[in-house]
Amino acid sequence: MERYDLPDANGHFGPYGGVYVAETLMAALDELKNEYERVKADPTFWEEFRHELKHYVGRPSPIYHAKRWSEQLGGAQIFFKREDLNHTGAHKISNAIGQALLARRMGKKRVIAETGAGQHGVATATVAARYGMECFVYMGAEDIKRQSPNVFRMKLLGATVVPVESGSKTLKDALNEAMRDWVTNVDSTFYILGTAAGPHPYPMMVRDFLSVIGEESKEQMPEVAGRQPDVVVACVGGGSNAIGMFYPYIGVDGVRMVGVEAGGHGIASGMHAAPLSGGAGVGVLHGAKSYLMQDANGQVVETHSVSAGLDYPGVGPEHSYLKDIGRAEYVAIDDKEALSAFHDCCHLEGIIPALESSHALAWAAKVAPTMAKDKVILVNLSGRGDKDINTVAGLAGITL
Ligand SMILES: *Cc1c(COP(=O)(O)O)cnc(C)c1O
Repeated sequence: MERYDLPDANGHFGPYGGVYVAETLMAALDELKNEYERVKADPTFWEEFRHELKHYVGRPSPIYHAKRWSEQLGGAQIFFKREDLNHTGAHKISNAIGQALLARRMGKKRVIAETGAGQHGVATATVAARYGMECFVYMGAEDIKRQSPNVFRMKLLGATVVPVESGSKTLKDALNEAMRDWVTNVDSTFYILGTAAGPHPYPMMVRDFLSVIGEESKEQMPEVAGRQPDVVVACVGGGSNAIGMFYPYIGVDGVRMVGVEAGGHGIASGMHAAPLSGGAGVGVLHGAKSYLMQDANGQVVETHSVSAGLDYPGVGPEHSYLKDIGRAEYVAIDDKEALSAFHDCCHLEGIIPALESSHALAWAAKVAPTMAKDKVILVNLSGRGDKDINTVAGLAGITL
């Protein structure tokens, strides 16, 4: 791999990314870009960031050898990067902290966020409480019904949850509404975006904050596994946990990178959330160009996945680029395969994984038996599954 130095000054990863927004948002994004450029070069910002990750989040998260599962599969050794052990249960908090610290430097006392399943809403409400900021979370009315425990969590943390009644009343509508709020209140407000998508500089910023995942892994793997992994695997919704794991490994030859999308009821059914591996075209959504699930008229289509966190029709622009240049591969795992890996992980390792992460686990479990016993697969276990037990119980016909 030659030197990799993306995005360019305008936020492009090859043909992807960029800034496709209304004139009214340009000034806000410019201000953000300039401020981020300043802090990027300021060591005191990163010192503060690292301090928070250590003392509030509990980083570094450990690497764990899933020995029993690996033995049962009879092939490559599977290791987990334990992002499930972070405060609030997933990788998302590290991004929320980075953006909140930036907001504080910019003198913004009000933060807003979009959320689908509620995980990013909870992470944002958490950091808003931690730094004494006012917090509004936009959430589709349909999602509010489906995710009541997370709605209550956000309220406990002092946030206001704003129901979004437009469109399909889900994540993409919440994102539109959050952008609208930002335009109106840009002087007082910082928009904490929840994944490595959206207009420049968000995909770059979110990647930088979450690169701590791959950086820690690079340091820990020689100690725990004796060497760097042959393959790193992560699930891909918008792509933030995956790019956090991949980015530090891009320049490391010999490390294969695999992003696992939600295959839902199967690619052939059309009911999935796999823009990179499901044969989708390219389009513009939420301010950036990327692979995107749309119909013949360019309308964004409804997606399906058993895991709410992967249920997004778009994907971050850097993944689109890594796919095109062949540096990363993208595959789909369907609902059934993910659920089966979910149960295996519970039984064999004593870890209840998030349904999102179960997609990455399922791919590892499928491929490990085809690899030699001295090969190493590192799975980013992006979050814990406590939030998913109602879903899993419901699928088994059990009401909790
Ligand atoms: C939100 C979430 C995801 C999907 O988001 P990305 O931006 O693709 O990482 C994956 N895993 C967990 C546990 C999540 O909460």
